[in-house]
Amino acid sequence: MSGRKRIVVVGGVAAGASAACRARRLEEDAEIVLLERGPHVSFANCGLPYHISGTIRDRAQLLVQTPEGLAARFALDVRVGHEVLAVDRAARRLRVRDRRAEAEYDLPYDRLVLAPGAAPVRPKVPGADHPRVFTLRSLEDLDAILAVLRSGDAGRAIVVGAGYVGLEVAEALTFAGLEVSLVEALPQVLAAADPEMAALLKPELTRNGVDLFLGTSVASFAPRGDGLLATLSSGATLEADLAVLAVGVRPETTLARAAGLELGPTGGIRVDAAMRTSDEAIFAAGDAVEVVDAVTGAPALLPLAGPANRQGRLAADAMAGRPAAYRGTQGTAICKVFELTIAATGPSEKTLKRLGRPHAKVYVHGGDHAGYYPGATPVHLKLLYDPRDGRLLGAQAVGAKGVDKRIDVLAVALRAGMTVFDLEHLELCYAPPYGSAKDPVNVAGFVAANALRGDVLLADAEDVERPKPGQLVLDVRTPAEVAQDPVPGALCVPLDELRGRLGALPEDTELLVVCAVGQRGYVACRILSQRGFRCRNLSGGVRLLRMRAAARA
Ligand code: FAD
Repeated sequence: MSGRKRIVVVGGVAAGASAACRARRLEEDAEIVLLERGPHVSFANCGLPYHISGTIRDRAQLLVQTPEGLAARFALDVRVGHEVLAVDRAARRLRVRDRRAEAEYDLPYDRLVLAPGAAPVRPKVPGADHPRVFTLRSLEDLDAILAVLRSGDAGRAIVVGAGYVGLEVAEALTFAGLEVSLVEALPQVLAAADPEMAALLKPELTRNGVDLFLGTSVASFAPRGDGLLATLSSGATLEADLAVLAVGVRPETTLARAAGLELGPTGGIRVDAAMRTSDEAIFAAGDAVEVVDAVTGAPALLPLAGPANRQGRLAADAMAGRPAAYRGTQGTAICKVFELTIAATGPSEKTLKRLGRPHAKVYVHGGDHAGYYPGATPVHLKLLYDPRDGRLLGAQAVGAKGVDKRIDVLAVALRAGMTVFDLEHLELCYAPPYGSAKDPVNVAGFVAANALRGDVLLADAEDVERPKPGQLVLDVRTPAEVAQDPVPGALCVPLDELRGRLGALPEDTELLVVCAVGQRGYVACRILSQRGFRCRNLSGGVRLLRMRAAARA
């Protein structure tokens, strides 16, 4: 070795490129080698669906950096087409194959960063090895899909898996002019979200021509002409010219496992807060590592680009002897589904339930901007918080506009350890084209804080759907609204008539109050409780009941 400290980074995309560039900024004298088995470094995997759709027209736009660019600016020794075959920890040496030269060589290191990413899961379905069955992870995958699209004989596609990538690919193939069937084994799209929130996406998918098969898996693929015949678990068959598998990823741990590095219970490489593996000379970052869920503290796999970049950066800090402490991943993510956007931060209600973590929730359906300014659209927001102290646990939102802003605000609030009481005081930018004087984020804080202060009790949607003995649903919407969308079994008293009709209400009954979105129900509950009635308000209102019904349909 040259005598200079040699840092070797395995994997040249998000985590690896970040680690290598940061290492150079911190250690001008080090020798830094970046090994990437594919032909490209630092490409935009997140942009791949948008080139399929044609939104990103120029494929070159996906190449955020080139080996030459990295060499020039950061003096990195970038070796594309070089695959690391093995890590000899005792000798601090890698076995590397130069794929182009078809040669192998040893490469010693002082510090090693493993950033090999994740591999798409290929379900063990007969026929899944058909050449028209693809996954989408790399530019080569992209090119293979585009080759079929450009052959001119592709009219139908099957996307298997309706997670973030599956939804984006379904949209992309639709925009590329194909008829798309989206097949998802779970009864909802986007498992990361709660079912009633994800259900808002269903009409948007079908409105755009996507044929949705929920609670259905692909049992087999068989050749049919140049294309495929997929048989579904329901027994139905679908013909297609290509299929894209998007059923998730698993951490790429082949090297780490063979080298005897510790893996965590989720199967990712175990690292400490400084991204150091069980070997002090080896760091790891990105989709390959197990992280701590920043909210629940549980070990988790949360393969996202932001965390991968930040972890790579931190690994470089740690290697340079700087204080470095990764603060966990909270799973902030967003997805465009045609005209709608869904985004989330923190764990879902499903996850909190599974972990037995106490939680409460409110729903708000506010406008993305002031209702009196043209073009306002609803933001459906679900806020999860700890009922003991109001601390934020998570949030999900769906809407046409303004979803990213609300979830980003809440992501910061959550990370800062804020409570629903803090949300009441957030001062967010407002003018009619952009927001409301009471932003949906403030309103979610008001609703949850009102409940925690005991100003109103919240009703469970389950109870409103199936009232228990001693409960009665009171609908305070106008007769016109009720006629359009009645709640079966509800006693209807419009809010503006409530004070005059209190005598008609049963006194020995708990009133479960509903209105369109929960706002008038709150006012009704304030009247009722101050007049001695027992009552609970359904936050989210009838809108929530319809979302839940859509999730069950
Ligand atoms: P990768 O980016 O996968 O890079 C790992 C690299 O290591 C690969 O290039 C691989 O070839 C190389 N490698 C592996 N083993 C070896 C070896 N033995 N020798 C040499 N090289 C090796 N995340 C978001 O947050 N938002 C999004 O919108 C988003 N959209 C996405 C869309 C798609 C289609 C995909 C596929 C992913 C998307 N992601 C998104 C996820 C995001 O891309 C990943 O979280 C991120 O790329 C992880 O970075 P990484 O460096 O850990 O792994």
